[in-house]
Amino acid sequence: MINRILPGETIGILGGGQLGRMMAIAAKEMGFRTAVLDPADNNPCAQVSDEAIVAPYNDLAAAKKLAETSDVITYEFENIDLETVNILEKNAYLPQGHRLLDLTKDRINEKDMLTRSGLKVAPYQAVNTTEDLEEAINQIGLPGVLKTCQGGYDGKGQYVIKDSGDLEQVKDVVDGRTRFIYEKWLDFDKEMSVIVTRSTTGEIAVFPVAENIHVNNILHHTIVPARISEQVEKEATDMAITLAQKMSLVGTLAVEMFLTKDQQIYANECAPRPHNSGHFTINACETSQFQQHVRAVCGWPLGKTTLLKPVVMVNILGQHLEPVLKRIDQLSDMHLHLYGKEEAKTNRKMGHLTILGENIEEALQKAAELGIWPN
Ligand code: ADP
Ligand code: MG
Repeated sequence: MINRILPGETIGILGGGQLGRMMAIAAKEMGFRTAVLDPADNNPCAQVSDEAIVAPYNDLAAAKKLAETSDVITYEFENIDLETVNILEKNAYLPQGHRLLDLTKDRINEKDMLTRSGLKVAPYQAVNTTEDLEEAINQIGLPGVLKTCQGGYDGKGQYVIKDSGDLEQVKDVVDGRTRFIYEKWLDFDKEMSVIVTRSTTGEIAVFPVAENIHVNNILHHTIVPARISEQVEKEATDMAITLAQKMSLVGTLAVEMFLTKDQQIYANECAPRPHNSGHFTINACETSQFQQHVRAVCGWPLGKTTLLKPVVMVNILGQHLEPVLKRIDQLSDMHLHLYGKEEAKTNRKMGHLTILGENIEEALQKAAELGIWPN
């Protein structure tokens, strides 16, 4: 029988960042209560939740407290302590389970899983020692990128190796204790992502493909519809559906992909949660990725994912906050989302702007006038 969670019941969220906050806002709109577990006081999610448990993720007493107060538990990020997840699975209802977390938090497990599911990925090899690295470069060739297997995000823990000079420099980081992956560098034409949701009922829905532009390895803006062929849109969508089925996904999965000039699609990595590149859905789709996620873990029918208007979503990083706030007068036809973070540190994700247009060019033009556009 499907466990249907109803308004008035409590959704427990592991992680109190902006993704948790937007999940909680969607849940509150639908009449749910929310509780959040996060080590930081007054975190973005706590600000909009009914209950906040402030404790480290490996505090098992805190995990039990979350279990007691919640009718269903979900998470907004993937690096959760395994023991905490075990306690929650035993003492509470965690329909997403731990399998996808285990797979996606390690780049090698993740690439193996993508390959097993029939998706194309860049050639890769595990690297633990400098000999492994030389061997991987012999096999795969240059240029390539060495990435830590765990804990990296926004390009952190990554080293691009173009020639033997780079190799000499990078050798020092391979310390014999940290696990790495070496991947062939793909000369891609575009980066894209697909967000797929699967409910506890088995129903699957996919959002339109997003085209992502990164600056310094951090998502700068997302364009939808992506400027790709119908064929690529279909193939990318099918890849996400295949993954959702093969993984028996519950909840939301974001799949990052590369499109090469000869129209080949490679899967890069995935995240078992709503994703920065899906923020456009809040204002531009019939259902947002956050409401869809809540529906999925609560056993509700999924919402329609139709794109209502062409859209550009622009991230507001710490250094962008002041220029954007100086232009409040220009924001009348843009949707401003800020996450309630106190300190506007450089590169910290403080919020985003969603700009709808009659076409992408119009939305991009408005975005470029915000004073935060890359040169
Ligand atoms: P994370 O987002 O966890 O930091 P990614 O694997 O997504 O790690 O890498 C960050 C960015 O680096 C990607 O969005 C892409 O721009 C670039 N990148 C990563 N791997 C490759 C690759 N094999 N070939 C080309 N570019 C890559
Ligand atoms: Mg990435």
